[in-house]
Amino acid sequence: MQAEERFVKVAVAAPLFTALTYKTREPWAAGSSVIVPLGKRHTQAVILGEGASSADFIIKDIVNLNESRPPLDSPYLKWFEWLADYYVHPVGLVMELAFPPLNKKSSKRTSKKSAVVKKVDLLPAPNLTQEQSQCIANILNFSEFETHLLHGVTGSGKTEVYLRLLEETLTRGQRGLVLVPEIALTPQLISRFAARFGDKIAVLHSQLTDRERTNQWWSIYSGDKKILIGARSALFCPVPNLGLIVVDEEHEPGYKQEEKLRYNARDSAIMLAKILNIPIVLGSATPSLESWHNAQAGRYKLHVMPSRVSDRKLPSIEIIDLRNDREAKREKARKDLPHWLSEKLHENIIETLSRREQVALFLNRRGIAPTILCSDCGYVYRCPNCAISLTLHGQKDLVCHYCDFTMLMQDICPSCQIGEPKSLGLGTEQIEQDMIKFFPGAIIARADRDEITSRETLEDLITKMERHEIDILVGTQMIAKGLDFTKLTLVGLILADVGFNIPDFRSTERSFQLLTQMSGRAGRHVPHGGKVIIQTYNPEHTSLEFAKTADFSAYANHELAIRKELLYPPFGKLAAFRVIARTPQLGINTAEKLARRGEALKNKYAQYSSIQILGPTEAPLAKLRGKYRFHLLLKAPSSQILSSFCRQILGDSDWVAAGTKVQVDVDPINLL
Ligand code: ADP
Ligand code: ZN
Repeated sequence: MQAEERFVKVAVAAPLFTALTYKTREPWAAGSSVIVPLGKRHTQAVILGEGASSADFIIKDIVNLNESRPPLDSPYLKWFEWLADYYVHPVGLVMELAFPPLNKKSSKRTSKKSAVVKKVDLLPAPNLTQEQSQCIANILNFSEFETHLLHGVTGSGKTEVYLRLLEETLTRGQRGLVLVPEIALTPQLISRFAARFGDKIAVLHSQLTDRERTNQWWSIYSGDKKILIGARSALFCPVPNLGLIVVDEEHEPGYKQEEKLRYNARDSAIMLAKILNIPIVLGSATPSLESWHNAQAGRYKLHVMPSRVSDRKLPSIEIIDLRNDREAKREKARKDLPHWLSEKLHENIIETLSRREQVALFLNRRGIAPTILCSDCGYVYRCPNCAISLTLHGQKDLVCHYCDFTMLMQDICPSCQIGEPKSLGLGTEQIEQDMIKFFPGAIIARADRDEITSRETLEDLITKMERHEIDILVGTQMIAKGLDFTKLTLVGLILADVGFNIPDFRSTERSFQLLTQMSGRAGRHVPHGGKVIIQTYNPEHTSLEFAKTADFSAYANHELAIRKELLYPPFGKLAAFRVIARTPQLGINTAEKLARRGEALKNKYAQYSSIQILGPTEAPLAKLRGKYRFHLLLKAPSSQILSSFCRQILGDSDWVAAGTKVQVDVDPINLL
């Protein structure tokens, strides 16, 4: 006897905002992966639940079960639907993220090539500090959903807290998930986990091959491995029997994905923990103001570790005012120091090297110089595709840092044909060159996106730092994250001002975080804590004042007061519409249409009346990769209505003109 025909709601892997209805006689449950007909094609899909027949359209049959994909549990289904809803993204495309890129390997033979997780010797755990044991005990009081914010200064031993909590999770027969920023996912970090948990860990990051990623995915899904450590996308791997989520460096902007599903992995992890009813730990030395505010309001449990382990001090921080240092200037000229190097920093480098210790110099700008300008007519080399100036690299290469356009610099200005192009400003490459000249006996290395082009080069650099085969490391913020070098005792920040004037309400927060994280690399293994020298033209900048005293809560209070006044997060919620168009006219037309649609909705529905629509305006990066950019910012007192408002403004998008793309970004991080 044939089973009865039934209707099911299905999330199809296609750009559709709603689920579709299909029919079948098979007993496939919600969460099953199936293949369905869509137009003339066959498409991946996931069954969401029961559907209903309709007289309005023809309902097609599901083609088949996709047996290579395991079914999704109902909490994960619920979470994927939340993601789609909250971040205004097609639900079927969200579900695609749940599965590994390839099919499971049928043969049992495992590849003998370099293992994703290298074997290391197990290490006994250290005795916990008083602060660590207190935090661990407090967190372990909770076995159900609770968001814990672990605010521990750099070097306070947050990783040890995670390790103990994970041990306890495994003891309870559950699994753990640890998210870290991509760049911090180095062998340094992985070995610390491997030294405690041996071969129980799996790792997921963007540099793995599709085959490696698929194998790691299955090793977790099958229960073979117990702890998954990964960058943001690891959150989508359905870990069975998950008992704890850790989000390290929770403030990191890298947790936000800037394309397709524009999710924030920290926020999404909190929602997952809530649905699974398990605890989640967010760790940072510089918590995001969103998390800090939630902790102050009692929505998160706050745990603090104010001191470094083993009575090691925090580094001493000295700020050098570059403006009116006349005496120093004369002295510098005498010693022939490069213009960017203060006498003080110079002396400290000499002292540090003479103690056989290491130096790191940070500057958040690659290349020789960020601007090349004609001293006669003021002409500036600009990227033809983007509204920004070209950066000089090497002797003559001009490079766009957004689209990688390159051209050669001429000897004579291409505009006035008289002047000579001159470099303005400073980049890491210039610093490296100057250091090589100034410290011929020292080994100098550079870490920025030009030098560190792959995971291997990053790992190689870290190994060299660990073995003290590098004396002076010059780099961008790339190296400020999570690294722990025994001999690194002096950190110099060449120009703190680089991040101060970015047109973004979070620029002060970013500067504070960066200053603190960079300082945090210094002196982690010496009793005196090492030294940090910050050079700046704005010594009174808020982020510097508070970074100097390392007083996070004073800084947070100060910044929160400003946010409150302007109704910026965490006090209001933001969403951005970005319009990317072939011509400026197309762009502004679409952006204005978006604004009109928004105003119309506000007038029609009372629930939307509290939403403010700011713009449309040209984006700060008005042209990128040959496309013109406009944006609209939406501000609302709460998130509940914002996503549905965005969804309704978009409608079915059939009104968007050809040659134009509209992107929605809920809780945007990047406002450029
Ligand atoms: P954080 O992540 O808070 O900056 P880490 O977890 O990297 O700090 O710890 C800093 C250093 O202190 C590491 O080298 C770590 O091995 C060491 N450490 C952590 N906890 C202890 C402890 N209880 N006793 C001794 N050393 C510890
Ligand atoms: Zn460009």
